[in-house]
Amino acid sequence: MSYVLPPLLYSYDALEPYIDTRTMEIHYTKHHQAYIDNLNNALSSYPALQAERLAKLLTNLDEVPAAIRTAVRNHGGGHANHTLFWSIMKPHAGGNPKGLIAQEIAKTWTTLQNFQEQFNTAAKGVFGSGWAWLVVDATGKLAIISLPNQDSPLMHGMQPIMGLDVWEHAYYLEYQNRRPDYIAAWWSVINWDQVEENYRAITQ
Ligand code: MN
Repeated sequence: MSYVLPPLLYSYDALEPYIDTRTMEIHYTKHHQAYIDNLNNALSSYPALQAERLAKLLTNLDEVPAAIRTAVRNHGGGHANHTLFWSIMKPHAGGNPKGLIAQEIAKTWTTLQNFQEQFNTAAKGVFGSGWAWLVVDATGKLAIISLPNQDSPLMHGMQPIMGLDVWEHAYYLEYQNRRPDYIAAWWSVINWDQVEENYRAITQ
């Protein structure tokens, strides 16, 4: 059994002008595909691990054989992170969250604006390559964190429900060094319905 690129539910140009067509195409068909190829390659001699859910491997990384642990961390993390990333974006989206996630954000950060400012700060503060995350932590509370490289919150006992890729490959063609502009634009394509679904799947 091999991992394959999950279907993208919108066209490469669907998130324009916030995420440009060429970045979407390269990010999805080249970068994400490379994580999948490298993950499959790492697992090729480990049929028992191929049968496991990827989330379980990432959650219990210390149980993955040392010979492939770094590869599973980087490329398994990359596959899981990008799969989530595509799903929490859609065209004509953004705006205000509704439902349970809106209530929990208000409970934790008082206002959506305050939450977004804190999330933006985390995303801007990633040194080099990494992600900003909205997670459910080990106590069941929402938290904003940032992690380097392709580390998944699962590796730290947390459940990701929303993540923003701030690797340069995610924005450099359109935004060059202006990561804050990319971060600001990204809120226009956030699919709050999916974030809500992710939150409910974990907490209910
Ligand atoms: Mn990426």
